[in-house]
Amino acid sequence: MSIPCLKCGRLYTFDGKRCCNKYCRYGSDQKPKIDFKAVRHQRFLSDGGRKAIAVWVPAWYELDPPMLEVGLTAEFSFCRDVSQGLLGNEPLVFYTGLAGGQIDIAWGTIAAIHHADFGSIRTISARGLDYTIVLENGKQFIVNAEENPGQLYEQHEQEWTESALAISDWRFTVEFSALAEGEPAEPRST
Ligand SMILES: [Zn+2]
Repeated sequence: MSIPCLKCGRLYTFDGKRCCNKYCRYGSDQKPKIDFKAVRHQRFLSDGGRKAIAVWVPAWYELDPPMLEVGLTAEFSFCRDVSQGLLGNEPLVFYTGLAGGQIDIAWGTIAAIHHADFGSIRTISARGLDYTIVLENGKQFIVNAEENPGQLYEQHEQEWTESALAISDWRFTVEFSALAEGEPAEPRST
């Protein structure tokens, strides 16, 4: 039954009486679930945030933030106790699955990404076990994130070959044009 919900616009269940969106549930006798992430997003859109700088050091093995990209607005996770973070005096450290400790989450918009050896970066995709880094100038690198983490590959003509670029420090600096105040992540629900 492809009737769009009057309230949220998603499709009704097959009986045509209830909205199947668990965050809406129009027509159902069940209460809608609260979509905390959407609530925080709305608050970020209305209230904005402050400029901020955060450090990311890859933990590899798909433990990292899945996507960092200039212009991206998303919800990010940070280590609450930076002494449990990895390095330096920066006020914020991206949470990775290795960091442990408590997590604060905040919506933000990325303005720039820098690395000492790569320079200015446009996109870092850390989905899967080969990460992709695209520089501001368009040059792409693939980074192994499983068997030999940090091994870099770059494209020559059609072939991906090991890169000569040697990275001694994997710290990335991410600048936010706006970042909401961090708050504790709600308990994970299934
Ligand atoms: Zn609905």
